[in-house]
Amino acid sequence: MENLTRQINTILSKELQALIYFLGRCSQRGSYKIYAVGGFVRDLLLGRENNDIDLVVDGSAVDFARSVLEIMPGTLRCYERFGTATLTLPRGTVFDMVTARKEFYAAPGALPTVEQSTLRNDLFRRDFTINTMACALNPLEFGKFYNFFGGLKDLREGIIRVLYKLSFIDDPLRIIRAIRFEQRFGFRIEKESFSLLKKAIENRAWEKISKERLYKEVRLVFREPKPSKVLARFAELNMFKNIFPRLTFSRELKNRLERLEQLLAEILIEKTFTNWSYSVLFLSALFYDLSEHDVRYFCYLMRLKRKERQNLLYVWENLPIVLPQLKNRMTGASNLYFLLEKMPEEGLLLAMVLDPDLLVREGIYYFCKHLLNKKPSITGKDLLKAGLEPGPIYNKILTKLHEAVLEGKISGRREEMEFVNMFLKG
Ligand code: ATP
Repeated sequence: MENLTRQINTILSKELQALIYFLGRCSQRGSYKIYAVGGFVRDLLLGRENNDIDLVVDGSAVDFARSVLEIMPGTLRCYERFGTATLTLPRGTVFDMVTARKEFYAAPGALPTVEQSTLRNDLFRRDFTINTMACALNPLEFGKFYNFFGGLKDLREGIIRVLYKLSFIDDPLRIIRAIRFEQRFGFRIEKESFSLLKKAIENRAWEKISKERLYKEVRLVFREPKPSKVLARFAELNMFKNIFPRLTFSRELKNRLERLEQLLAEILIEKTFTNWSYSVLFLSALFYDLSEHDVRYFCYLMRLKRKERQNLLYVWENLPIVLPQLKNRMTGASNLYFLLEKMPEEGLLLAMVLDPDLLVREGIYYFCKHLLNKKPSITGKDLLKAGLEPGPIYNKILTKLHEAVLEGKISGRREEMEFVNMFLKG
């Protein structure tokens, strides 16, 4: 294969094609050479579109990114020291740009020293051969395919192979990445690479990576189509206990995650739930049976953000109380509302996974579709305007009003006002 123009023109959306041709023209204006590399090219050859595009820029990536931004709206983050830039365009396409460079690992796990160099050198520092292919984007050689390390053959044969023996030692995160790709694509890790991977695990290679980097990579597992398979593989390779100490990857836990994946496949189509995060959802499922002490320990270990930690702990603490009540047929609309009002969406989803009872599912869907936005139009301001002395009575009235609206006893502003007046009178 010599040229990928046909794949670009047939597999990518028209919008992405236009962006890519546009970037190519920008590079020509500034006499840069730019190449799409890594996952984008791999996915293109697999017939898939990938909206996170890695570019290698021959010339300065930072200067090139700035020159694009002069013509195109978007946001830019530059790391001058590393010669890298991330350009995010309004519709969410992300271009990660690096200056073509050669990398030396001063010490295993240390940050790389940057030095200008060629495309080939840049590709050599990548994780697996399937991620080392490149495609030129500048107009004079648009679509030209570069395959220095046999990536195409490995991709066609479904093989994950490191580029050199010390790869997993230089960057132990590649252990996790190898397993992610193996499970995502149903590929196999090549024999020698696999024995290097196992040796790196035996030697506890990842102990030298910072927790930030380690858990950032671990979180990507939850965005895979089947996280349960990746985690099962971690367990099989004796890694699970290192990533999640004090947690056992039991058959029951695997089943729970599989049910969660099934549920996600449904909800991603129908869009009732839009405000949840993969990490909090999967971690809530993983940590549900742990003690509070252990959950808090993981929040710290994984460096969860404040909001993530709050949601995770809320679910852990309250779902065991809420879940049995969801199965009570006598729960009225307002009780259902106040039961679920504060529960993060991750908790609502997990409830349906933990208890397959139809009543649980119906209750949650009823809450989301019919109760969540059913609020009285009258607020505290209206009570103030009506001359009511501010105090605890406000809360009492507004709650009673909300209950009546939820129960369908009143609707519309006039009836709400009447309700408030009646309440005050008697
Ligand atoms: P995904 O489809 O999961 O986004 P990707 O291959 O695009 O996969 P990214 O994490 O976006 O993965 O990384 C982009 C590219 O950077 C990869 O294709 C790979 O070439 C390189 N890369 C990422 N992480 C590493 C690493 N730890 N070691 C070496 N190369 C890496």
